[in-house]
Amino acid sequence: MSVTDLARPDIVAMKPYSSARLEAPGRGVLLNANEAPWPLFDEDEHPLELNRYPEPQPAALVEGLAERYGLPADHVLVTRGSDEGIDLLTRVFCRAGRDAILHCPPTFGMYRIAAQAQGADVVSVPRDFESGFSLDESGVLEAVRTDDRIRLVYLTSPNNPTGDVVDPAFLERLLTAAEGRALIIVDEAYAEFCPDDAFAGQVGRTPHLVVLRTLSKAWAGAGLRCGAVLADPEVISLLRRIIAPYPLATPVVSLALRGLQSDMVMRQKGLLREILRNKSRLVDLLTGRAFVRRLWPGKANFVLVRVDDAAGLLTFCAARGVILRGFPSDPALRDCIRISVGSQKDLDALEEALDAWETEL
Ligand SMILES: *Cc1c(COP(=O)(O)O)cnc(C)c1O
Repeated sequence: MSVTDLARPDIVAMKPYSSARLEAPGRGVLLNANEAPWPLFDEDEHPLELNRYPEPQPAALVEGLAERYGLPADHVLVTRGSDEGIDLLTRVFCRAGRDAILHCPPTFGMYRIAAQAQGADVVSVPRDFESGFSLDESGVLEAVRTDDRIRLVYLTSPNNPTGDVVDPAFLERLLTAAEGRALIIVDEAYAEFCPDDAFAGQVGRTPHLVVLRTLSKAWAGAGLRCGAVLADPEVISLLRRIIAPYPLATPVVSLALRGLQSDMVMRQKGLLREILRNKSRLVDLLTGRAFVRRLWPGKANFVLVRVDDAAGLLTFCAARGVILRGFPSDPALRDCIRISVGSQKDLDALEEALDAWETEL
């Protein structure tokens, strides 16, 4: 049994599109891709050869990210953010009307959206509210062992919006239970905020472990749209069968490479330190407030709070220009608000708004 046996047979059988850039090198007299022979931008303005198609998987960026994550380059697929990774995994491994994903709400919403867009079922193993939204580990194991439809199991570590991380011993048991049955996907969008809890380095140990990483959060690159699927080469090659031929725009690749240079890595470390410092101020300024019922500090760059009147507080803060995240349509989170760790100035504004709200009550 290989991971390919878990993929949709029609995707495995399909003859993939072969782009000009895949078939031939990007050097020489290039008359193979219907490109313009020269760019319209001046070279000094944009020295990027925008008239040429980009590399489908830019080698320098793949290698740079692989080095960051401590993996061989053939274990990395660069994508337009983790969202694209989730979409590719769903389309490759879930047959419409037959297969399912498993997720543990409250969690990131894109797993469900991608599954529903593909016509796959969504098996929910909800986090238990009474225990403070902790993962129902035995529920997940039971579902994976008994439900043959489940092809993808999403764990989020740290989880959005609860901030908790996956227990390595649980992941071990889950990998054993899922062998030959499903892929285990650990979404590590926030792992840089708690590097000791990361699983990326374990990718390749077993072909059914997949990790998602992104430059959107801890690399201050949400606008870049750049992420990576870390997986066994067999999974990577399945995903490459359906990824767009040129997913990464040349300027994005160029900026992402710049972001991985050593001076920027130093800056990123500075950013992480500052975020952690600001996070303790955020936790302090929420602690002990009369309207705060419960606080989940978590291990990421946000906190979750349960408050007396979430809708009222959200509106009150918004009127003061402070925008927080509420979850009005999710019954489990109706009283909860997620607050991202901002700058000191952002926290000043938040503190002022919360003080005013408290006086108003
Ligand atoms: C923010 C976030 C992402 C990021 O997605 P991108 O497409 O890379 O911006 C992925 N997973 C989780 C859990 C997130 O919170």
